[in-house]
Amino acid sequence: MSEFLEFVDVSKNYGAIKASDHVSLSVKQGEFFSLLGPSGCGKTTLLRMLAGFESPDSGRILLDGQDITDIPPYQRKVNTIFQNYALFPHLSLWDNIAFGLRVAKCSKKDIKERVEKMLALIQMEDQAWKKPDQISGGQKQRVAIARALVNQPRVLLLDEPLAALDLKLRQRMLIELDLIHDQAGITFLYVTHDQGEAMSLSDRIAVMRSGRVEQLGTPAQIYEAPRTSFVAAFIGDTNFFDGTVAEPVDQRAILRGMLPAVVDKDYSRLVIGDLPDLECFNDKQIKQGEHVFLSVRPEKLSISREEPERRPHVNMLRGTVEDVIYLGSQTKYWVRVGEYRISIVRQHTRFFLDEKPIKWGEEVWISWHADDGFMLEKYSEQDENLLRLPPEAVGETPVEPAPAPAAEEART
Ligand code: ATP
Repeated sequence: MSEFLEFVDVSKNYGAIKASDHVSLSVKQGEFFSLLGPSGCGKTTLLRMLAGFESPDSGRILLDGQDITDIPPYQRKVNTIFQNYALFPHLSLWDNIAFGLRVAKCSKKDIKERVEKMLALIQMEDQAWKKPDQISGGQKQRVAIARALVNQPRVLLLDEPLAALDLKLRQRMLIELDLIHDQAGITFLYVTHDQGEAMSLSDRIAVMRSGRVEQLGTPAQIYEAPRTSFVAAFIGDTNFFDGTVAEPVDQRAILRGMLPAVVDKDYSRLVIGDLPDLECFNDKQIKQGEHVFLSVRPEKLSISREEPERRPHVNMLRGTVEDVIYLGSQTKYWVRVGEYRISIVRQHTRFFLDEKPIKWGEEVWISWHADDGFMLEKYSEQDENLLRLPPEAVGETPVEPAPAPAAEEART
């Protein structure tokens, strides 16, 4: 896939608000690309500038090598699908899909062929003569997609297209959207604040914050290797430990003299309040004395009644189970360790056969490998407010208030 759509240093201000702040990003041909971020971070503004409904204050927008920044909307080979679908209520589904082709004065034969192809793609051939008020929300969504695709756009822009649907329908439409994208073979630019949607559909995601791209990568890169604490907190659940980087790890100290002295520069020790020191892989070579968040995803942690065997680079903490939520395929635990309430997810395999479930109030060990944590710079107070918005505003997975700020409050 080659670079196909490019935003080059694009800025757009509304008064003092930087809706787009020197955004540069490129999308490949045929890619399913998502702009993801909390409300007001500038996703729709980028989409509207690409569609031609807004002009950038500075920067250029290129489509397939052509500078389209100053081209009027109707001459751009992009089509937008809005949240409310904007179908014509008085026209049949067939005529809704054919509308753009008629405006473009295509031949009757051409219109018939193309509309029928689209109806087959969205699997609604048998309902073509219904009016929009005779079909469900999910079906309206499909007709809106067909109506946009029939014009053969180079890029399909989707602005929160599933927001008006209930959860079950949304989940079904996610699969359908994915299929339609694969079959249509065109570039999809998808705007959402729902990290679950973005993760399940996208080839790549740009996570946005305050008009800027915070991180761009595949869903796995963004989840497994978040570059900032904002991204780590926005995409899925994580535990944050608030600490200061100390000198490189001395394995001798950690293993109580069981091994010869080893000072390993790839790992750093973190001094974290009242907790025992923790170890983290220091790929960014963060310097001694720096104040960081250590981010560890709940599924990277192990929980056990018995003390695990001490091994190099494995962190171990002792705590008390405060909450247990059985979720069928997995159980979620909350374990109190000093000031921290740490979340752990354990996947079940043979629940009744092999496991004596850990219960509320039990003393447990939690452990994780130093490679599974990330040292990240601390997010700002402004970011913290964004992350504390209700789940429906920032994504499906509620972000548990990070323990680190709570710990700070407790200290003051
Ligand atoms: P949401 O998910 O809520 O739709 P978004 O990430 O798409 O948010 P934008 O709609 O791009 O965000 O808005 C970015 C910022 O620009 C916001 O602070 C918004 O209030 C502001 N903004 C957008 N359009 C206008 C406008 N026409 N006039 C003034 N301010 C605007």
